[in-house]
Amino acid sequence: MRADFLPFHLPEFGPEERRAVLETLDSGWLTTGPRVSAFERAFADYVGARHAVALNSCTAALHLALEASGLAEGDEVLVPTMTFAATAEVVHYFKARPVLVDCREDTLNLDLDRAVLTPKTRAILPVHFGGQPCEMDPILSLARTHGLTVIEDAAHALPAEYGGKRVGAIGDMTCFSFYATKTITTGEGGMVTTDNGAWADRIRMMSLHGISKDAWKRYTKEGSWRYEIIAPGYKYNLTDLAAAIGIEQLKKADRFREARARIAAAYDAGLADLPQIQTPVTLPGRTHAWHLYVIQLAPEQLTLNRDAFIEALRAKNIGTSVHFIPLHLHPYYRDRYGYRPEDFPVATAVFARTLSLPIFPSMSETDIQDVIDAVRQIVLKHRR
Ligand SMILES: *Cc1c(COP(=O)(O)O)cnc(C)c1O
Repeated sequence: MRADFLPFHLPEFGPEERRAVLETLDSGWLTTGPRVSAFERAFADYVGARHAVALNSCTAALHLALEASGLAEGDEVLVPTMTFAATAEVVHYFKARPVLVDCREDTLNLDLDRAVLTPKTRAILPVHFGGQPCEMDPILSLARTHGLTVIEDAAHALPAEYGGKRVGAIGDMTCFSFYATKTITTGEGGMVTTDNGAWADRIRMMSLHGISKDAWKRYTKEGSWRYEIIAPGYKYNLTDLAAAIGIEQLKKADRFREARARIAAAYDAGLADLPQIQTPVTLPGRTHAWHLYVIQLAPEQLTLNRDAFIEALRAKNIGTSVHFIPLHLHPYYRDRYGYRPEDFPVATAVFARTLSLPIFPSMSETDIQDVIDAVRQIVLKHRR
């Protein structure tokens, strides 16, 4: 057994990020400024979108994307139940309703065939689960038919591709996260990409109190003390300190993805012969960001359940996580909307048997082998 604990995730920084932070401190400009603009430009170019607006989280990005789309009280938004709190909570900010959708058995992405549309449906919020792009063509054509805005939650999907396009250049608006555990990080941070200039302007304005364009320049030489409040906005702007880190992390995004893809391939090979473990299903025609490596246990072939499996891995010094506790199983959604576990049979069943293994670029060959060995030892000891 390994001597030290392997955490579920560790971010990777080099001298480049350190230098960038120190240069920003020395520049005297800490909040939204030239580094945020440079990060936005580099990010838009990287994903192939016309505009990118940096924000202080993906949650803020989702909120302001919905705001720009014109979501209003009483509207409905299709949201997968297999996601994090943020994807659905932002819909409540508008007194609108997230209508949950079950997931597919294979990719765990939302199952469009189970989506319930009504005359009130205004938008769809697909999540690229674990970094594997959703089936976007049917989502886009459903959206065109019913006049829905497609806002992708791409918190896991940098970089990922579908149909020859990077995620970020596919739907109407795409929201990214730079939270500490995501594929690139600024500590906290987010980004919206879109080809629609009016939406980008609206999001930028609402991210800084709803005050008129280029408000951040008011303390520069070319800036003015005069500003106008156009709408009651929010305080969602990214700092230059964070953007300085983001610029350097973005340069490494491809290398990080290759490292994660190698780890995924090693796990696939190392666990392939175990019928007790289902490794992730990947579909052709897309590039997987490999933010998560999610395995599913075959409960009828094991004498221990998922929770015990996680404890057994912890005892072997391997950190894990679970993605996700489906929204419909949480008290708020259960009590507010009367959702029952059986309303989303796939997500409910998957939740009971799923766990996520460590997958981050700085894992060593030994770390990867330790995870494989630990999983194999537990399976062999507890197989039926
Ligand atoms: C992490 C995450 C978010 C939220 O990102 P923040 O930047 O922390 O706001 C949203 N959606 C999903 C699917 C996530 O995993």
